[in-house]
Amino acid sequence: MPCSVRYRKRRVGETALTAPPAARSIMNRIVEKLLAIERRCFPTPLDEGFRSLFAEVLDLVEHYQRELVARSGYTVSCAPGCTDCCCHWVEDVNSFEAEIIADYLRTTMPGRIDAVLQKCSADCREIERLEKLVAMKLQEQRIAPGNPAVDTVDLLLAVFYRIRRPCPLLGDDGRCSIYEVRPLTCRIYVSFSDPLRCNPEYIDSSVVPTCLIDLSESANRVLDALHFSYLRFDGDTGLRSLMVKYLSDDQT
Ligand code: SF4
Repeated sequence: MPCSVRYRKRRVGETALTAPPAARSIMNRIVEKLLAIERRCFPTPLDEGFRSLFAEVLDLVEHYQRELVARSGYTVSCAPGCTDCCCHWVEDVNSFEAEIIADYLRTTMPGRIDAVLQKCSADCREIERLEKLVAMKLQEQRIAPGNPAVDTVDLLLAVFYRIRRPCPLLGDDGRCSIYEVRPLTCRIYVSFSDPLRCNPEYIDSSVVPTCLIDLSESANRVLDALHFSYLRFDGDTGLRSLMVKYLSDDQT
């Protein structure tokens, strides 16, 4: 499937937050830590040195988000057990995050691996089916592939969200089963609206303020460099696709 984009898109209803000076200084520390990881050239993201520096990055990301939201006038409405956004096709996961998540699953819940693999594979087949369906519908409407007026990736992701297939890593209790190692894509997505409005039926609504509290361009540049330096598999960077590859791999 085509979701191999390495950038994050604003969608309808998204709100841009401006970083105050305190948040900018935290972001500078995030970039410094990421550069430190890059300089150390750890042989694998499972190296203790990598993990501990990256854990510091994640702590700083939380700090940065708190600082940004505190001065925004908005209130984050996300809470444990609210699972709507976990029905998204989680894109833009970094190779090193996938490696760490697969290792976490193997270490903490080996009995769930087969079930996670099966669900991820089924979801990958489903998004491929939807991709063909979307292409067919566009063809019926005589919309040529590559037409700049239609973002086919966004369209496909919206269709997938509407069919409500929860992330295979969502626990039966409605909580993320890998919360401490969840990818940055999940961490940066927050809602400021009534949780009822997070229902997929509102995906195109401009009255639902959601926000990607994304990192700075400099931070994303280093994350991209790290992603490519630890990349072991070609293809898209969806969480489900990566889990199929990393969990089926004997080397991990
Ligand atoms: S990884 Fe966790 S937070 Fe992210 S979509 Fe899956 S269950 Fe939700």
